[in-house]
Amino acid sequence: MVFAVQCPNPKCRKYQLVEDHDRNKIVSCLLCKTPIRVGSGPPPSGRPTPSPTPPPRR
Ligand SMILES: [Zn+2]
Repeated sequence: MVFAVQCPNPKCRKYQLVEDHDRNKIVSCLLCKTPIRVGSGPPPSGRPTPSPTPPPRR
């Protein structure tokens, strides 16, 4: 299984495909050679960032 990781370089942001066995490894960006940490699997699609719990209402 392959999945995409995004280059952390703000000037690049290139997505590249990595293999499942590349998890927990460092790959180099194809464009800017920035090391990309392959940590998690495919990014959750369309999931908004969890909002903090609202303060209790009295
Ligand atoms: Zn890059």
